[in-house]
Amino acid sequence: MNPFDLSSQQLQGAKFLSERRVGNVIGGVSGPALSGRWLPVTDPATEMVVAEAPDSDAADIARAVASAQRAFDSHVWRGLRPADREKLLFRLSELIERHADELSALETLQSGKLQGIARAIDVQAGAEFVRYMAGWATKLEGQTLDNSIPIPGPQWVTYTRREPVGVVGAIVPWNFPLAIALWKIAPALAAGCTVVLKPSEDTPLTALRLAHLALEAGIPEGVLNVVCGRGATAGAALIAHPGVRKLSFTGSTAVGKVVGHAAVENMARFTLELGGKSPAVVMEDADPSQVAQGIATGIFFHQGQVCTASSRLLVHRSLYRRVLDELAGIAQGMRIGSGFDAATQFGPLTSKAHFARVMDFIASAKAEGATLVAGGERVHDAGCFVQPTIFADTTAQMRVVREEVFGPVLAVAPFDDVEDAIAAANDTPYGLAASLWTQSLSHAHRIVPRLQAGVVWVNAHNVLDAGLPLGGIKQSGTGRDLGRAAVEGFTELKSVCMAV
Ligand code: NDP
Repeated sequence: MNPFDLSSQQLQGAKFLSERRVGNVIGGVSGPALSGRWLPVTDPATEMVVAEAPDSDAADIARAVASAQRAFDSHVWRGLRPADREKLLFRLSELIERHADELSALETLQSGKLQGIARAIDVQAGAEFVRYMAGWATKLEGQTLDNSIPIPGPQWVTYTRREPVGVVGAIVPWNFPLAIALWKIAPALAAGCTVVLKPSEDTPLTALRLAHLALEAGIPEGVLNVVCGRGATAGAALIAHPGVRKLSFTGSTAVGKVVGHAAVENMARFTLELGGKSPAVVMEDADPSQVAQGIATGIFFHQGQVCTASSRLLVHRSLYRRVLDELAGIAQGMRIGSGFDAATQFGPLTSKAHFARVMDFIASAKAEGATLVAGGERVHDAGCFVQPTIFADTTAQMRVVREEVFGPVLAVAPFDDVEDAIAAANDTPYGLAASLWTQSLSHAHRIVPRLQAGVVWVNAHNVLDAGLPLGGIKQSGTGRDLGRAAVEGFTELKSVCMAV
């Protein structure tokens, strides 16, 4: 079979792939890795190779950083009036929306994601996020200060200004390849920085397409460079490059620590958006049906491959059976299939390796004595499909409770005393997100401050807003994506002291 044999429906959206081999974009020019090596990009629903992207290494990264440095030093971007940077970012957001069919098809091809989710999250919310960040280009500001400088003679004028940090190295994962790339690129560009982006080797296609759209929008060559390749080669070269002044990373805690160490070596700034094992605490007064719907979305949306997924559910014993039964009904009723089928509610996992990892977690939960309430099996002989899975009666020491599965596997346990529930919720090395389900304002206000997480939802889970900072505490990372905090993270604060 032709390895690039796509159905006409898929091809319609993915015209970009007519060449099959899609090059890096460095200094506005598309081309292969200097080594001439390529990596396959595979559709996880069919396990067919759909494209090839460059297998870049340190030489390609060096070219890309040099290109970003030239663009930064030449002031073609940072020297623009902020209102002009804003206008060009608006144009980029329009182009992203205009190419919604193509970008969402590429996303589904490379990751198996439902095309509706790709359209809503990676494309539509991604474009809105670019517009949100575009607005910050004209709103970054410093402060003027009264001062008490004890040196007589001149009058002193003191103020601060925010300046772009320089060349940014951005490394993003495979779960929301376009959206998370935009979470890094848009604030960096709004602040006046230039960027080298390394997407995951599993999902490079939308990032490459984005680089072309940025050029079409009028963003100067070299301002956004995209270099594909493996984490251990291209990624490692990018984080070690002394020309990179800020590293912005989303991925696993293990690799995040490697990125942090490399950043400190060069005294580069860094933001790390890492793993999670997010708890949902359901109080006695919660609405069980609302909980079941919200948690099903929280853990099964995009097959649970979401850093903030509601992977641990702690339910007051009075609601335990009811919530479990409703959740099991939802899980068992989900339509599993291709992301290109509009009727599909649940697609494949993103790669064969990840599929094997998730199946291993399911096997360990069964072996450790958790009660299987729904799912737990592979679906179809081909493709990376696993059933939405729920384990009840889980205990604190089980692997499925302690470690991030990053898949559609929910661990549920009952509680009698709210103090035990709060302790269990916080009994994790992670601290990315949490949710609380209650009808009581008093419960909400008393418990929210006690949940150790960067983001807490009440009667909801996984709801993001461009303006609300997203990031973790503990082993879930440092720094924030989204919101004002993100754009300020791409600036240095300069203090100015003037004798007049
Ligand atoms: P990784 O942390 O391995 O990868 C994330 C990104 O880092 C990818 O672009 C990867 O490239 C790159 N990378 C890998 N190794 C290095 C390195 N030594 N130096 C620089 N860059 C590197 O995460 P995975 O994608 O493999 O997922 C593994 C686990 O991480 C998941 O199961 C989940 O637990 C967590 N995760 C968390 C996410 C979040 O949103 N917080 C998102 C995705 C994953 P490449 O893919 O080419 O190897």
